[in-house]
Amino acid sequence: MARKYIDCREYPSDMNCSIALSADTDEELLEAAVQHAVAVHQHEDTPELRQQLRQLFKEGTPPVERPLSAAA
Ligand SMILES: [Zn+2]
Repeated sequence: MARKYIDCREYPSDMNCSIALSADTDEELLEAAVQHAVAVHQHEDTPELRQQLRQLFKEGTPPVERPLSAAA
């Protein structure tokens, strides 16, 4: 099974979050991402948030370098 990840650096926010999460399954990654979004980004755990986060998942592992799209 392909590894999945979500990288906060691709989504610039007030706090300049540099967290990247990765897991082997969508379910694990979603749980971790939801916890992170709630704890750090003050999102509410809603079906909409979960749907949104799923769309941000990428195949593979997080790049070491900050993505160019988010270069400050
Ligand atoms: Zn974050």
